[in-house]
Amino acid sequence: MSRLMIIGCGGVASVAIQKCCQNSEVFDEIMIASRTVSKCDALKEKIVGQQQNSGKKTKITTEQIDADDVEALTVLIRSYQPEAVLNVALPYQDLTIMDACLEAGVHYIDTANYEAEDTDDPTWRAIYEERCKRLGFSAYFDYSWQWAYQERFEKAGLTALLGSGFDPGVTSVFTAYAQKHYFDEIHTIDILDCNGGDHGYPFATNFNPEINLREVSAPGSYWENGKWVEIPPMSIKREYEFAGVGKKDMYLLHHEEIEALAKNIPGVKRIRFFMTFGQSYLTHMKCLENVGMLSTTPVNFNGQEIVPIQFLKELLPDPASLGPRTVGKTNIGCIFTGIKNGKEKTLYIYNICDHQECYREVGSQAISYTTGVPAMIGAMMVVTGQWKRPGVFTTDEFDPDPYMEALNRWGLPWVVDENPVLVE
Ligand code: NDP
Repeated sequence: MSRLMIIGCGGVASVAIQKCCQNSEVFDEIMIASRTVSKCDALKEKIVGQQQNSGKKTKITTEQIDADDVEALTVLIRSYQPEAVLNVALPYQDLTIMDACLEAGVHYIDTANYEAEDTDDPTWRAIYEERCKRLGFSAYFDYSWQWAYQERFEKAGLTALLGSGFDPGVTSVFTAYAQKHYFDEIHTIDILDCNGGDHGYPFATNFNPEINLREVSAPGSYWENGKWVEIPPMSIKREYEFAGVGKKDMYLLHHEEIEALAKNIPGVKRIRFFMTFGQSYLTHMKCLENVGMLSTTPVNFNGQEIVPIQFLKELLPDPASLGPRTVGKTNIGCIFTGIKNGKEKTLYIYNICDHQECYREVGSQAISYTTGVPAMIGAMMVVTGQWKRPGVFTTDEFDPDPYMEALNRWGLPWVVDENPVLVE
């Protein structure tokens, strides 16, 4: 029986919270703390209504919190005394929430690595530019900020579990599982993220637009022979036939789990990440980028400062509202090649998730679902002690078996294909 504090109440949080409440044997008490408390209250009301019929009985409290304020957050954590904090706010809050967890002495779980909100801040920029030169990729996000907390979490006897969503998260657990059960040495990893869903809008993003558009408009990069290779945005394209979805175009992107897997998988020679995009999405994105709407630099408009990408977020459909309209499936997984018992081996582990089934279960589309379920599972691994070790870790650094079992149980069953078509 555990008490969990969940920070954020957006698309992913809504699924993670409902899944924690379905899992009331583990999470008997939760606090939903977010910037807009009315969203927390509305979700609580919905879940309390559902619990009357289901016999589940997680006790839910809600609070308003600005997670950028370490002091206020520390006070709140101390007063609620959870075993762990699940951060499903935005990557901008990762460091302040980690600081508050250390102050208050509780474990920490998140779904995405730290990203600076203000990329024009000169102190941040100097560190970023040095890192671009040293490591060879220019994404705004990387693990160095959170890996820097290793010693402090270790000394405090606390666990920080980073990136327990689907990708990053499950994709790294798939890798640890392949390594444990199928390979002596993994040589290549291709992570394929396919969304075959259709929401009927000409343009919308499936999760937070600001984070999503920043990610996909950035240069791509992959890991090869011990170093990063960076390429112009969307310049490597492949076609792949996805089980449950069909043929899709996919593009090579930089993605955070590559960094962790390159460090943790011995002998790996190449790691790439591909995501599918339709032509309409790409055309809209290019146009928005060309006119400056993806910029994070504030502009003055009629005497008021606005950040173009934040204004764009206001105009776009709220990802949380896409649920009822989205039909089709996602297919996310990893293709591995390597060696077992001296022979070459290939393997594909993937999950197929249906947007409408997710909507029927929790009122969300599959992108929030495939992230929210692993967020709950990550928190469960930590609070039940199955993945509890002092320090800062990614999901490939623990025994994958209990996590893989939990994916099957909590709505994300996976498939193992030992004869996959490889990506060229
Ligand atoms: P949303 O924008 O839907 O939700 C974010 C929530 O965080 C909102 O409720 C927001 O409050 C709250 N929030 C923002 N700033 C603060 C703050 N300073 N203090 C307290 N609460 C705050 O985002 P998503 O649900 O789509 O994404 C959540 C996280 O999941 C992100 O980090 C995203 O990168 C990650 N993600 C990870 C994936 C993976 O596979 N690993 C895939 C998809 C997403 P308000 O309601 O007031 O806006």
